[in-house]
Amino acid sequence: MLAGACALMASIAAPAIVRAQGLAGVKRASLYNLHTGDSFNEVFYADGQYMPDALAEAMRVLRDWRNGEEHPMDPRLFDTLHEINARLDTTSPFQVISGYRSPATNAMLHARSSGVAEHSQHVLGKACDVRVEGVTLRHLRNAALDVGAGGVGYYPVSNFVHVDVARVRQWTGA
Ligand SMILES: [Zn+2]
Repeated sequence: MLAGACALMASIAAPAIVRAQGLAGVKRASLYNLHTGDSFNEVFYADGQYMPDALAEAMRVLRDWRNGEEHPMDPRLFDTLHEINARLDTTSPFQVISGYRSPATNAMLHARSSGVAEHSQHVLGKACDVRVEGVTLRHLRNAALDVGAGGVGYYPVSNFVHVDVARVRQWTGA
């Protein structure tokens, strides 16, 4: 009887907590780095401020996988991912193809491909290339454009959407 009452209370209390978090402006991001297998699924913003520990962990997950270099990521990038996710009907994480790129890595990629900018937002910690399992790339692109927080690059052949927090613009790549 008592256990039943507790279970009932728990089932009532849970949605209330979710609502309270929503009111407090809690933001969460869920990332999965395809190159390293590292993942991040944490609240990075609550009570009107970013959570330094969460941002540090997200920075680690988005590090340059080629040489392990880390660089602070612009927190607004996570705001943007949070906003995009809110427009997707999914619980799947963002699969990260590319997050931070060290200058050396970017120079190498730029020399190899005309699709990689010499002055990439990735080098500034302001961009990531993502896809989401079960979400069409077009839907993901449209959600990012709807958020309107920065650059959105659509790469249907490579199967990712580039998202950054530089000025608002859009393009299609390969
Ligand atoms: Zn990119």
